[in-house]
Formats: sequence, C-alpha cells, structure tokens
Amino acid sequence: MSRSVLVTGGNRGIGLAIARAFAEAGDKVAITYRSGEPPQELTALGVLAVRCDITDSEQVEQAYKEVEDKHGAVEVLVANAGITKDTLLMRMSEEDFASVVDTNLTGTFRVVKRANRGMLRAKKGRVVLISSVVGLLGAGGQSNYAASKAALVGFARSLARELGSRNITFNVVAPGFVDTDMTKVLTDEQRAAIVAQVPLARYAQPEEIAAAVSFLASDDAAYITGAVIPVDGGLGM
Ligand code: NAD
Repeated sequence: MSRSVLVTGGNRGIGLAIARAFAEAGDKVAITYRSGEPPQELTALGVLAVRCDITDSEQVEQAYKEVEDKHGAVEVLVANAGITKDTLLMRMSEEDFASVVDTNLTGTFRVVKRANRGMLRAKKGRVVLISSVVGLLGAGGQSNYAASKAALVGFARSLARELGSRNITFNVVAPGFVDTDMTKVLTDEQRAAIVAQVPLARYAQPEEIAAAVSFLASDDAAYITGAVIPVDGGLGM
C-alpha cells in the first residue's frame, strides 16, 4: 500500500537515503529541505520536495498544506533534520546552545505536532525520530547536540504513552557515525579515533540507517513503540 511519507531534511545524507528507500518501496514521499536545490535523483523518483525551515512554524504549516494537497495527510513522519554547532562549554554561546535545541528538539516538536493532526483523524500513524548515539553517551564538545538528541528520547517515549491508544507509534533511531556531510568536517585523525572505538570498526552508510527506519514504519513493527534502536556498529553498548 502506498503511504504518504514525509522526511524532514531529506535532500542529503541520512534523510536522502530514507526518502529513497520509501520511494523505491512505492510510497508517496515528500521531503523538506532548508536550502539549495533538491537532488535530481529524488525528482526522478517522483518525490515531492518542499522548502521548509523547521525553526519556523509558519513554514512548517505551509509545507504540510502542500504535502496534504498533493499526497494526502502524512501517515509516516521521519523527523530527521538536525544540526551540530560543536564547541566546548566555556566557549559555547547561548545562541550556539539555543539554535541547536531550536532545530533538533523544538523543530522536531513542530513537525510532529503538525503531523499528529492528520494521524489522530486517521486513527493511525508512524513517527520515527532520528536521534544519535551521542544523545545516549554524551560527547565532549557536543553538549548542546547531545542534550537535544537525548531529549528526543523523552519526547518520543512520552508521546508513545500519550498516543498509543490512538494507534500512533513513536520510535527513535540512534545512529552512530555515518558517512555524510555532517561528519565530513572531521579530520582523518578524528575519524580513525572514532573507528577505533566502534566494534564493527567502520562508519555506517546512510542506507543502513534507512533500513531501520523502513522497518519501524512497516507492518512488521506494528507492536513496537517507545523503542530506541541503535544503529551504531556497537558503539553505544
Ligand atoms: P546532514 O547535515 O547531511 O543533513 C542534515 C539535514 O537537516 C539537511 O537536509 C538539512 O537541510 C536539514 N536541516 C538542518 N537544519 C534544518 C532546519 N532548520 N530546517 C529544515 N531542515 C534542516 O546530516 P546527516 O548526517 O544526514 O544527519 C541527519 C540526521 O541524523 C540529523 O538529525 C543528525 O543529527 C543525525 N545523525 C547523524 C549522524 C552522522 O554521523 N552523520 C549520526 C547520528 C545522528
């Protein structure tokens, strides 16, 4: 069955792999992107690309209206958009902290709340939040990012309790280090140090994160809610 799927930040990296996986499975997929142009490969797959900054509720509302118009109410939401602004605590400005929280946590709140309007009406829905192993373990220089990603677990589990009886599931995928633009900023030395800590001794490919998300959105995962699934090569265990 073809579902209306929305992936935030679906123009590159992990979000792109997730959008591709749903589109190839025959779903009606929409992505949001913040800037630039959506990738050709998604347009070719019939994916609807909507420009939307998730820190702006008005833009979120407009994006949902466009998706609903073209694909119907969102049945599967993947809240993937996120940013880092890494620095040590004593160098971290209030703006560095607030902007990461405003995107990763409050931005997720904005898109989840709006999706639930349709999901409550439909009496079903699937929500998958992309957290991070860093949210579970912490990481020096990433206190803003780790706090925002840890908070997603409490957010998802609260909603799993609040809305389970409405047949809406909320699950979290916590990736380890994935080969994307976000991690390209690391030096070879930093990458080697990370890989040395990972039992599977390598980075993840974005498709490996997408596989867990696809599973959580599938019928096979109908009885899974409030779960945090690590896809981290064993780093967080
Ligand atoms: P990326 O930087 O390649 O992509 C991030 C996406 O989020 C982009 O599409 C960007 O446009 C979007 N985005 C950022 N701010 C936005 C805003 N205000 N409004 C709308 N969209 C916005 O990063 P990625 O590695 O693909 O990361 C995707 C998600 O996975 C993020 O939430 C990230 O925190 C998480 N994650 C990544 C890794 C990793 O190693 N790459 C590990 C764990 C978790």
